[in-house]
Amino acid sequence: MGPVGLALAVDLAQQGIAVTVLDDNNTVSVGSRAICWSKRSLEILDRLGVGEQCLAKGVIWKVGRTYHRENEVFNFDLLPESGHKMPAFVNLQQYYVEDFLTQRAIALGVNLRWMNKVTGLTQMPDHVALQIGTPDGPYDLTADWVIAGDGARSPVRGLLGLDFDGELFEERFLIADIKMQADFPSERRFWFEPDFHNGQSALLHKQPDDIYRIDLQLGWDSDPEVEKRPERIIPRIEKGGGAKGFHAGLDLDLYLPMSPPAEIRP
Ligand SMILES: Cc1cc2nc3c(=O)[nH]c(=O)nc-3n(C[C@H](O)[C@H](O)[C@H](O)COP(=O)(O)OP(=O)(O)OC[C@H]3O[C@@H](n4cnc5c(N)ncnc54)[C@H](O)[C@@H]3O)c2cc1C
Repeated sequence: MGPVGLALAVDLAQQGIAVTVLDDNNTVSVGSRAICWSKRSLEILDRLGVGEQCLAKGVIWKVGRTYHRENEVFNFDLLPESGHKMPAFVNLQQYYVEDFLTQRAIALGVNLRWMNKVTGLTQMPDHVALQIGTPDGPYDLTADWVIAGDGARSPVRGLLGLDFDGELFEERFLIADIKMQADFPSERRFWFEPDFHNGQSALLHKQPDDIYRIDLQLGWDSDPEVEKRPERIIPRIEKGGGAKGFHAGLDLDLYLPMSPPAEIRP
């Protein structure tokens, strides 16, 4: 179940509106996806009843530093004032936020249906007719309203024959989650042309559970299948670790993709 559909389901349920959530999967998201939750997003999550959980679990940060090679060229403090309920940012794996929203939805009585795939949809004058596929076979469902929260590639948008205009940013990034014990500040660090990743950029974020995420710019022509092989990644990380003062040696444990902890898998 994605964060958009879950957040909307919780919001509607809080207003006393009966909601059914259909998801074709049987788990919260897997792998490193969204990790940085802004103050505004946290305020919305707080209104939905999960803000405190996000604060308690997440890594709070507000300072970012930008480097060119070895030299710091810029830094910022996103929330120099005190007295705000929510911090500038919290870093928290997307699957934790989905888990908190799932638990909240269950507590509010939302009808969550895992492994229920929307396979057909017809708009009628006063309702919507849906066809649903499940491991136990298909069934039909009617709803007053249907809201598609089925992700960027939205099959529902496809079923409705709708297009999606937008622009493609032609770049590729390698996202690696590294589990390591490190005394590294809770700051966002960005490098142009670092010595550990020649000619490209790199971004480092601290996450809960001793997980560090590094995003390495690869260039549009790179081959994702080749680049995600551990023997291609680990030397870069180790070089970066040595150069930047974060430990990436003996305890280095690379997750591609990283799974949500067992306790939050439904
Ligand atoms: C590798 C990666 C890295 C990312 N990194 C970042 C980041 O650093 N920062 C950031 O802000 N964002 C990041 N994102 C994007 C972020 O994960 C998405 O924006 C977010 O998940 C969108 O949420 P959503 O609820 O709209 O859709 P999704 O999370 O995609 O959820 C859609 C849900 O709909 C379900 N579904 C699909 N089709 C059907 C169907 N026919 N019937 C029933 N259910 C269906 C899916 O199983 C899924 O559970 C990343 C994404 C990826 C893939």
